[in-house]
Amino acid sequence: MLRIEDHDRQRCRPEFEATLLDDLEDLGFVPDEPPIAWFRDRKPLPWRQSDNDRTYATAIARLRDQGLVYACDCSRATLAGRPASGGDGGTAGGREWRGPGCPGGCVSRGLPLDVAGVAWRVDLGGGSEAWRDLALGDQAGDVAPAGDLPVRDRHGNWTYAMCVVVDDLRHEIDLVIRGDDLREATPAQIRLGALLGRAAPPRFLHHPLILRPDGRKLSKADGATSIRELLAGGMPPDALRGRASAALGLATER
Ligand SMILES: [Zn+2]
Repeated sequence: MLRIEDHDRQRCRPEFEATLLDDLEDLGFVPDEPPIAWFRDRKPLPWRQSDNDRTYATAIARLRDQGLVYACDCSRATLAGRPASGGDGGTAGGREWRGPGCPGGCVSRGLPLDVAGVAWRVDLGGGSEAWRDLALGDQAGDVAPAGDLPVRDRHGNWTYAMCVVVDDLRHEIDLVIRGDDLREATPAQIRLGALLGRAAPPRFLHHPLILRPDGRKLSKADGATSIRELLAGGMPPDALRGRASAALGLATER
């Protein structure tokens, strides 16, 4: 199943989607549903997040009715302005802050939700969630390591972390394979799924990322070679898929 995760209306563009579809086709990926041509037609589809605003609004309205959604007007300054305590925390100027909630204690402030410029968070209830990762084995983590999950940002965009949970539920996705950079989000997503009525979480497999030697992400600016360039240079699609899989430990190189 192919889903276009273009929840961020400020950043996503139809031409980016077209490029992504080109890359998938050039790599030889053929979705079971829907046909790639349906995306190219630009008609509204259940598999394109920007076409499904009401779906996310309805899901979050259910949580609002249960009193689980709160407005948060915290900024970086809220965190940086906290008094220093000599902790080893991961903030710039302020003292270490760990969830649940948010740095400014907005969960108990009762700020209005339907105003511009505030983010929405879901009160996940604290604690932790555990799962058996298909690559990493038994895993567990706090549901709010950096605060309760934002479900809508201050610009009014639904967040990636929330949209995929709603989509995985309605699309009946039971296997999530994704990069290790999303592993820390997993406990919150398991909890949110349960709050939305999901009986059991999907199975997860978190794979390593292909990084620069110094551990940073690959980027075009640093001269990293793109899939498109490798294919244009004559590398067969199956060889490229195989090399990428082997580099991630998902397949063995023969
Ligand atoms: Zn806040």
